Amino acid sequence: MAPLRKLVWILFIIVPAFAAAQRLPEGVVPQHYDLTFTPDLQKATFTGEAIIQVQVVRPASAVTLNAAELEIQEASITQGEKTQQAQPGFQPEKEQVTLAVASALEPGPADIRIKFSGVLNDKLRGFYLAKTRLRNYATTQFEATDARRAFPSFDEPALKATFDITLIVAKADTAISNGRLMADVSGPGADRHTLKFSTTSKMSTYLVAMAVGDFECSEGSADNVPIRVCGTPDKKPLQAAALRYAGEILKYYNQYYGMAYPFGKLDVVGVPDFEAGAMENTGAIFYRESLLFIDDNNSSVHAHQEVFEVLAHEMAHQWFGDLVTMKWWDNVWLNEGFATWMALKPSQALHPEWNATLDAVKETDRALSLDALRNTHPIRAKAESPEEINEMFDAISYEKAAAVLRMVEAYVSPEVFRRGVNAYLRKFAYSNATAEDFWNALTLASGRRVDNIMPAFVNQPGEPLVLVKAACVTPPPQPATKSKRRRFRRPVQAHPKTEITLTQQRFFSDGHSGSSPNSPWVIPVCIKAGDNKPFCQLLGERQQVVPVVGCSPWAFTNAGAVGYYRTQYDADDLKKLSAAALAGLSTAERVSLVNDESALIRSGQEKIGSFLDLVSALSSDQERAVVESFVPPLRLIDDHLVTEANREAYHAWIRATFRPMMEKVKWTPAAGESEETHTLRALLVKLLGGVAEDPDAIRESTRLARQFLQNPNSVDASLARTVLEVAARYGDAALLDEYLAAMPRMTAPEQFYNVSAALKEFRGQQPVERVLQLAVSPEVRNQDAARLVSDVLHNPANQNSAWPWIKAHWPEVEKQITVSSGAEIIAATESECDAGTRDDVRQFFTEHKVPSSERTLRQSVERINSCISYRDRQQNNLAAWLDQHPGNGSVGNR
Ligand SMILES: [Zn+2]
Repeated sequence: MAPLRKLVWILFIIVPAFAAAQRLPEGVVPQHYDLTFTPDLQKATFTGEAIIQVQVVRPASAVTLNAAELEIQEASITQGEKTQQAQPGFQPEKEQVTLAVASALEPGPADIRIKFSGVLNDKLRGFYLAKTRLRNYATTQFEATDARRAFPSFDEPALKATFDITLIVAKADTAISNGRLMADVSGPGADRHTLKFSTTSKMSTYLVAMAVGDFECSEGSADNVPIRVCGTPDKKPLQAAALRYAGEILKYYNQYYGMAYPFGKLDVVGVPDFEAGAMENTGAIFYRESLLFIDDNNSSVHAHQEVFEVLAHEMAHQWFGDLVTMKWWDNVWLNEGFATWMALKPSQALHPEWNATLDAVKETDRALSLDALRNTHPIRAKAESPEEINEMFDAISYEKAAAVLRMVEAYVSPEVFRRGVNAYLRKFAYSNATAEDFWNALTLASGRRVDNIMPAFVNQPGEPLVLVKAACVTPPPQPATKSKRRRFRRPVQAHPKTEITLTQQRFFSDGHSGSSPNSPWVIPVCIKAGDNKPFCQLLGERQQVVPVVGCSPWAFTNAGAVGYYRTQYDADDLKKLSAAALAGLSTAERVSLVNDESALIRSGQEKIGSFLDLVSALSSDQERAVVESFVPPLRLIDDHLVTEANREAYHAWIRATFRPMMEKVKWTPAAGESEETHTLRALLVKLLGGVAEDPDAIRESTRLARQFLQNPNSVDASLARTVLEVAARYGDAALLDEYLAAMPRMTAPEQFYNVSAALKEFRGQQPVERVLQLAVSPEVRNQDAARLVSDVLHNPANQNSAWPWIKAHWPEVEKQITVSSGAEIIAATESECDAGTRDDVRQFFTEHKVPSSERTLRQSVERINSCISYRDRQQNNLAAWLDQHPGNGSVGNR
């Protein structure tokens, strides 16, 4: 036996923000990890020991693993009876360590044994320290490439293995991991105990999870699967809703997938500091507290729906992602697109009152907005370095992929789609899959060429614009003809028909479509024309003519609003459609019409008047989702198009348009009022108070905001955030004091974030600087700091004060940046609208690099450019339209 040499190799001192990691060499395949961790929550460090059983495929004198920010004290490799000390050699830029041995390893099994240590960092990645005002916690977030910060590992999604995890923690603490707690024994030492968890199923390293602290749980079960919702002790009273929803969702999925929940138990843990919304670790989903813990009786509809749908997303991942995993990160949509698509299903089935179908249209719009940029990327895109991989977690991988799945699902029928999905899950369970594996399974199950439709949507960037022109054609009567039997036929009266000409091209937010190198998409276009039954047609050519029986008074070419494309109608067709929309289109279809028109005025392909006419035509439409779709475009007009000369005219028009609805809905909820009406009220207050400067709305909002600060449960939970925001928008330094003083008193996360989210609305140099100063102080949690900065910067009214402050205080701001929050600060600059600031932003972030944000910076610059041309094209159009449409909602007019 070789003498034990106590050596320490330091792998990383500095966070390798720009490491260009590369894939591990082939030839050694992990089978099983035996991991023991001893975290020290006071010193914020941990020690660990790993025994990794591997299969050596071909003779090798070294084994390469991933490792980052770890120190290795000791390493050896055993084959049969022979144990060799291994010499670690680090490649920090690759986040790898190579363990070299003196005599080559033979093909066959081997055990790698490593003793290591690391730091519980404050960057919310790897094994990290989370803090409350009372104490420290240790927790993990490994997706995408941060398991390597907790233990040396084969940290690639296709290298699945089983895991035995043991945690040695303080006597008063507990721990949660992927497996069930199998054993809990005292020691080592008097003040610690050792918790051993059951062997996991075969899974990827990024799904390993550990949490250590004084967590308290509520317990339940569904279909014989034990479910717990856990968090810090103060959150115990806020766990009931999540526990109930988790049970509902688990039963729904068991049935939908025809395959029982595969991982034995389910823990859902709210941790005090968390980077993402939530993380689907196998059997142990970790969460940002605000998305999990709600007061069952005093929370908004939105908060309930959000808890439910985020749970549904993470639980969907237990099948899509955890059981069947993408082979590599280029196909991360196989995880995220599926979970996003799936999450709305249990919501639609079990809580129809939330109308998740309408949220699907909103999600699709979010994807279409991003995908219309020249700096978008295909759903499947090259992603090799951790930087590139982290950038893949965006609206393209989530919402675009989900929208494409919805479109294909509607085309082949939901039941057939389900059969294909389930066949795919069964075939690749505990294994890995690619995009082709998915659409081949769907093609087989449906007998339709899904493999013709999906590749263009997945492999090429951007989105189609479908141009529509409908024409009524009455063919001339056929002349009398002589039949073979020499009898004369009478002239035949030909039936009139509508010919709908569909043309596809790529849509760009800057309106210049001509330069598209794309091959045509094969698009399932679903058509609704007058009284005809809706039907779907594959549009695979650049132009096709689709005949419809009869002279239809109008035609709508996104029936069901499930298409992933924008539509532009011929001007006359749009007029007819706008007039018929309220009676002829479903709510989802009206929302998609509004969204498309809004995109077309921004791109300059239509005049702003056509959009405002549509809003007027729908001004009696009391559907929450329709009013919601008006808010961003009407606000954008207020931010960038109105001038001092017509601001009041614009506000008067909004007041005239929406006051009648507000008068019906009233400020105080009626008994038994629908959840949609609660939300509608908040939207109307946002438009009247937040945009149109309606004095009544401002006065009542301010009164309710003050009431909320004193007694949050006394204000309708669905209205609270909006009144706080409207009050803040017109508030002074004294009101800001009231907000800041109230924040520590808010016990439920929703109430705390209602106040916190409103801080960005305060205007003027001093309040803005005060909020920014607060954001970078220790008062604000790690997980919230950079986001508060980006919220303030995103408010166009604050940019003259916020942007100079952020530049001047960059070292303080930069210190708060975690994995993806830096990119959010850059994304917030998108609401700028002048060339000088654009150049300044570009130069500043070129000089001050932020991790995983290279594409975001290009997108922000493109969005600023698009705003500049939007203003140039539409400002005069707006002025002309307002001249012709004076509002009667003048401030004095009651
Ligand atoms: Zn996800």
